Order: sequence, then C-alpha cells, then structure tokens
Amino acid sequence: MTPFWQEPDFHDHELVELVHDRASGLTAIIALHSTHLGPAAGGTRFWHYPDPSDAMRDALRLSRGMSYKNALAGLPMGGGKAVVLLDENRRKTPEMLAAFGDAIEALGGRYVTAEDVGATEADMVAIHARTEHVCGLPAQKGEAGGDPGPYTASGVYFGIRAAARHKLGKTDMKGVWVAVQGCGSVGGGVARLLARDGAKLILADIDSGRAASLAQDLGAETVPADAVLDVACEVLSPNALGGILHEDSIARLDCAIVAGGANNQLARAEHGELLAERGILYAPDYVINAGGIINVGLEYLSHQKGEHVDIAAVGRKIAAIPERLVDIWRQAEAEGTGAHRVADAMAQRLIGRERD
Ligand code: NAD
Repeated sequence: MTPFWQEPDFHDHELVELVHDRASGLTAIIALHSTHLGPAAGGTRFWHYPDPSDAMRDALRLSRGMSYKNALAGLPMGGGKAVVLLDENRRKTPEMLAAFGDAIEALGGRYVTAEDVGATEADMVAIHARTEHVCGLPAQKGEAGGDPGPYTASGVYFGIRAAARHKLGKTDMKGVWVAVQGCGSVGGGVARLLARDGAKLILADIDSGRAASLAQDLGAETVPADAVLDVACEVLSPNALGGILHEDSIARLDCAIVAGGANNQLARAEHGELLAERGILYAPDYVINAGGIINVGLEYLSHQKGEHVDIAAVGRKIAAIPERLVDIWRQAEAEGTGAHRVADAMAQRLIGRERD
C-alpha cells in the first residue's frame, strides 16, 4: 500500500492529522496544505465514506483547493480542510463535536474551521464552545458571518453571468438554459437568483423531492440526477459533489459553459484540457465558489481583532469574483491553455510554490 504522503494528491501538505477520540467515537482528518498567507482556513465536511481512503483523498484535495481559493480571493489566510468520518447513519453527537473542537484548539490557531457539506451553524456553535478558531457562527444583522452557503451562491451567480457574457455575448440571463446539479444550500441559492433573472432552469438532485419542490417554486424543469450531465443547455452548474468531470462525462456534455460551486469538479487537472479542447468555458471551481469563505474568513479575521466586519466589505470582495474569472479566461485564451492551469499558476505564485 502506498503511504498517503506519496500519493499524487499529497501536494506537500504541511500537516495531516488523524484525530481519533475513543470516548466519543470521533474519527476525523485535519489537513493543512499551506499556512504561507496566514492561518489555514477551510470548512469541515461531515460525511460517511464507505471506503475510508476516500476520506483522506477528499481532505487532501479539498485542503489544497482552499489554499488556492483563499489566495485568489485576496484573503490573508492559508488553506486547510477537515473531514469527519461518520457512520452509515451519519450519526453526529455533541461529544464528537466537543472532541473535534478540542483537536482544533490544540492546533493553536494554525487551522480555522467553518461549515462544509453535512455541517450546520449549530455545529459551529458547538465547536466554538471548545475553541475560538471557528467561523460561520450566527451573525448579527449587517455583519459578516453565519452560513456561508448564500454567499457562495451569490458569487457563483455573478460568475455564471460573467461566463454567459464572455462566452455567449449575453448581457442578461433571460432565456438562457442552465442545468443545475444539486439543489442544496449553494445550488438552490444559485437557482433562485437565476430564476429571478428569467433563466430557463433544469434542476437535478439525488433527493428528487428536493429538486421537485424547488422546481415547483421556480417554474423550472427537473431531470433525474444521473441524467443532468447529458442535458442540452448553455450552462451546466455543478453544485453537488466533486470529481464529476472526467473522460466519460466530458465527452457527453452538451453545454457551452461549466460554472458551479462544487469543489474539485475536475476528477484530475488534465480534464480541464479536455473541456478546453471541446470549446467549453470552465470557471475554475475555487475561484467562482469563494463567496462563502470570503464571508466567514472576514468574520474570523475581524473577530480576532475584536472588530465587526461590515457586510458591504464582504459584498465588495464577492463582486470581484467575475473580474478575476475574466482575467483568467483571457489569459487562458492568449496562452492557448485551460483556465484551470492559469488559475493554478496564479495561486501557486501567491502561496510561494511555483510547482505544487
Ligand atoms: P448541500 O449538502 O446543502 O447540498 C448538496 C446537494 O447536492 C444536496 O441536495 C444533495 O442531495 C445533492 N447531491 C449530492 N450528490 C448529488 C448528485 N450526484 N447529483 C445530484 N445532486 C446531488 O451542500 P452545499 O453546501 O450546497 O455544497 C454543495 C457543493 O458546493 C459541495 O461540493 C461543497 O463543497 C461546495 N461548496 C459549498 C460552499 C458553501 O458555502 N456551502 C462553499 C464552497 C463550495
């Protein structure tokens, strides 16, 4: 068996910790990719992994993505991520959250956590009882903080509009066909914002009831979850889990743009080239989905200084996401390469790693 630090996804992580608390039954991995720009920030995913080696892969890939995301979002923060390995019933107890908070506290501020898939604001409050190195806590009106999902959705929505302008020359989203994979916190938010603009929506979720009820609210269509990548549309917006873009799926795509909030959409970096070869414009995931970490990152940094962050400061940083995407697309076109390569190189320069 190859040790994980010799796997291709290791990417010179600064620290990878397995947390096991026998009393509560907590098993978690905390992965810190880089603290070059500041404390490693990134959410905690609570998930059941039938194959535990997928948990390590997830932690490493998501953590590196956070380094790149935070750097390109202009946050003085490094990148890290945690995964909590839940049983098949997804059992999460107060004792497990307390033990997890203690593990974060023991890192002395090198890692700052927040919500990711499977986590709630209430979980962050429980973790906060044991450590101050947590964000995504309930926010007062007009302040940064709270559930990052709506902020991520807003950045993805701005990014989709920028992509439609750049690739299709569309000045608004009226009548533009968008297929949305995943109707949760991010996908649901993106769909609502696009519906307001008159986009034509096709929704899919493995929880078909969730897709159906959102579709009813928005006057959208639905397709089964396993059909959404084949749907004819102008924009495909992946907002579920990662690894969905690979040889098979890319060959089947019938869209001009891929732009969504899911982390690690490309199964491997070379799949970005396949998209470019097919003439599909790709919005690098960690650039378009930075809204949530911008919100909670500014919350954390301001609380550390005993200040409040005006929500307008968060809005200004999120509003810069489309400009960053356009810079990346232009550079990719000039260099004849994929947008993901340009974004990776920009991020690597910022975190002091020319090759990563
Ligand atoms: P969520 O749990 O609220 O929603 C995810 C939805 O996707 C669920 O409704 C689930 O049923 C559905 N789903 C799962 N697998 C699916 C599949 N194969 N096909 C269709 N639907 C499927 O999670 P979320 O917070 O909306 O996050 C979605 C994605 O965005 C994740 O990849 C997450 O890492 C990423 N992301 C989230 C944030 C945030 O602020 N929440 C920030 C950055 C990135």
